[in-house]
Amino acid sequence: MKTIVIVGGGITGLSTAYYLHKQLKQDGTAARIVLVEASEKLGGKIRTVHREDYIMESGADSVVARKTNMVPLLEELGLQDDIVYNETGKSYIFADGELKLIPQDAIFGIPMSIESLATSMLVSAEGKVEALKDLYTPNEHFTKQDSIGHFLEAFLGEELVEKQIAPVLSGVYSGDLYELTLASTLPYLLDYKNEYGSIIQGLDAHRAKFQSGGKKFYSFRSGLSSLIDRMEEQLGEAVEFRKGTKVTHIDKLSDPAAGKGRYRLTINGSGETIEADYVVLSTLSEAAQSLLHHPELDKSFDQLRNSSLISIYIAFDISDDQLPKDGTGFITADNRELNCDACTWTSRKWAHTSASSQLLMRLFYKSTGSVYAEMVNQPEEELLQVARQDVLRSTGIDAEPLHWTVTKWDNTMPNYHIRHPQLVAALEQDMEQLYPGILLAGCSYYGVGIPDCVANGEQTAQRIAEQMAG
Ligand code: FAD
Repeated sequence: MKTIVIVGGGITGLSTAYYLHKQLKQDGTAARIVLVEASEKLGGKIRTVHREDYIMESGADSVVARKTNMVPLLEELGLQDDIVYNETGKSYIFADGELKLIPQDAIFGIPMSIESLATSMLVSAEGKVEALKDLYTPNEHFTKQDSIGHFLEAFLGEELVEKQIAPVLSGVYSGDLYELTLASTLPYLLDYKNEYGSIIQGLDAHRAKFQSGGKKFYSFRSGLSSLIDRMEEQLGEAVEFRKGTKVTHIDKLSDPAAGKGRYRLTINGSGETIEADYVVLSTLSEAAQSLLHHPELDKSFDQLRNSSLISIYIAFDISDDQLPKDGTGFITADNRELNCDACTWTSRKWAHTSASSQLLMRLFYKSTGSVYAEMVNQPEEELLQVARQDVLRSTGIDAEPLHWTVTKWDNTMPNYHIRHPQLVAALEQDMEQLYPGILLAGCSYYGVGIPDCVANGEQTAQRIAEQMAG
């Protein structure tokens, strides 16, 4: 009987285990599936924290509804009835000392109509005129491998990009727009530009795609960890879960030149080992790199990038009525007056997170911000005070916090730069030669969103099942 060891029990590793078990069962193939996770809990960057009536998500807080590959999985897990959608509301940008409304008829701050552009409170009259060049400037040289920042600036002008689009988009993709490709962010913008001659008009023509009744994101009644818990529960005895267990070493047991690998994984440096025919490394690339420890692979691994973020939740024992009507949060345009880069008014955006609509807020501090380097070393109590100052300056609220959680995601958020696809392709090729039977999986390579991680888990499982059958 073959043994498959999955290292890393985030959503990618769990999905790999889930689909592998399903496929092998269908094929009538018996196998031992072991999932090794360093922490005591599965989920990785999906981790729900419950405090009395409040639900806080340390990492991811929702799934984008547009990516429908999750639907069959949620049905199989019996989670459809637990789905909750985001409330639609108004988002703001904090600029010049105040909250300014982001035009509603816009996607990621990019206007979907001339009216949306004309009524923007964030851009000057000159900036609006400059953005109109989108209507009459054809695309002559941009491809999906170009940076989205340069692409947007070429047609919509510098001011609109800087004041209205970049604050939103770079928050979503946690990176500098000038270092992110169209391909890895919003590739359809190039198609629209080429087809309609204008980004704005292309978005206008496809607006139905972006207006799914406002229900763009979903979570679950008891938080996003329900997805993890239900998968673990359903896999039950079919997978050997080894939690609180770190893989520290991988040794080759056979000559990869023979085209087949067999590996020995050492656990926690304790000397305990597991032998495997297939290994899935669904950890961040840094952990995979140190386990494989090969100079050929280092050339590509060294060029993959991560960014960082501190997330701070504050729950108050006051009603969230004190926030601007229908508002769901804001993004900071520049950090001169606020330290946070964004703030979600969570109890407004996600009704399930605060059963009695008492105020729950989440503040984000990105590594690109000016205070991150200092904050990452500060104790949590001091970080809470920084966050309270930001709450006061942005909303005037000075209440005492009832609960709070601070999570530091230091250097753990993959950031796909322009060369990312080539680096991943090189790694795949090298892995096949050097470590047949070991597969890299997860957010470091194949997409950071939860649906992408699930899809990648499914593909990884498929590849192993095919190799086992062949
Ligand atoms: P991870 O979740 O990082 O899991 C890797 C696992 O490997 C970890 O559990 C780790 O402990 C384990 N591990 C590492 N080394 C070893 C070892 N040697 N031995 C054993 N185990 C090991 N995505 C969305 O779709 N929607 C969102 O709203 C969203 N918001 C986010 C907000 C934040 C603050 C962050 C950080 C991410 C967010 N994401 C969001 C992205 C998404 O959460 C991640 O990309 C995804 O969860 C990554 O899953 P993964 O399984 O690939 O990796």
